[in-house]
Amino acid sequence: MNLSLYTLFIVLAIFLLLFAVEKLFPLRESRGGLLARLIVNAVISGFAFVTAALVVRPASQRALHWVSEQPFGLLHVLQLPAWTQFIAGFLLLDLSFYYWHVLNHKVPLLWRFHNVHHLDPELDVSTGFRFHFGEVLLSTLFRVVQVSLTGISFAIFAAYEVVFQANTLFHHSNLRLPIRLERWLNKMLVTPRMHGIHHSQVQHETNSNFGVVFPWWDRLHRTLGLNIAQSKIAIGIPGYTSPGDNRLWHTFILPFVQQRNYWRKPDGSAPNRVSADLQKHKAFLAE
Ligand SMILES: [Zn+2]
Repeated sequence: MNLSLYTLFIVLAIFLLLFAVEKLFPLRESRGGLLARLIVNAVISGFAFVTAALVVRPASQRALHWVSEQPFGLLHVLQLPAWTQFIAGFLLLDLSFYYWHVLNHKVPLLWRFHNVHHLDPELDVSTGFRFHFGEVLLSTLFRVVQVSLTGISFAIFAAYEVVFQANTLFHHSNLRLPIRLERWLNKMLVTPRMHGIHHSQVQHETNSNFGVVFPWWDRLHRTLGLNIAQSKIAIGIPGYTSPGDNRLWHTFILPFVQQRNYWRKPDGSAPNRVSADLQKHKAFLAE
């Protein structure tokens, strides 16, 4: 059995496990019907998978072949011992995904597509693969640049892929972990409470916590914001909270039509949270 099939089985098993346990121990209360959301997320994810399999994966594999034959990319230049190279490669991949995520929020064209991921009115493991196929298609260019500049090997790429996919599902899940356990885990991994804040309707909270696997890049770039209690968070994008905004067809055409003011609700209000206290304890994960 080849490596990508192993990855698929591991990721599928983690998905099913998280899907079951997040229903038993939910972190945030569910407000709407699960089935309608699941169907929308499954179809959007299906298109994302097909785009990834037909375009992103072949392009990344070609780039991997290319860098394995030419002495190109940072890791080739550095010539580190094998295990140091593995760690450095792993960190570089995660750091570059941090930058890609930031770009998806800051560049208006990219945000049109990434917004489809964020306007899911609830957050659980089914949101984890809900990316507009346009966002996946645009990521092809990023992946080729990422692989070429880092000079990553097949082994590091494959190992990171499993951890990346697994942690993406984990941090999107609605699983309530004991707070002390999550605070401990969050020193090493992006966790559900941390990423829940990234899906808040408050603009500056959405523009925080961009990390995928390691939470350290947010600390380093001062984009960390952990002190928002999950019970205070409304999930989604304010401008797209009307009933019907999460309908399948609407999410498909959304990046290609006139955009609304993302940060104002249909009644004109903009969700906000101002407190000097929140500014002080940004690195403390709230319950
Ligand atoms: Zn995001």
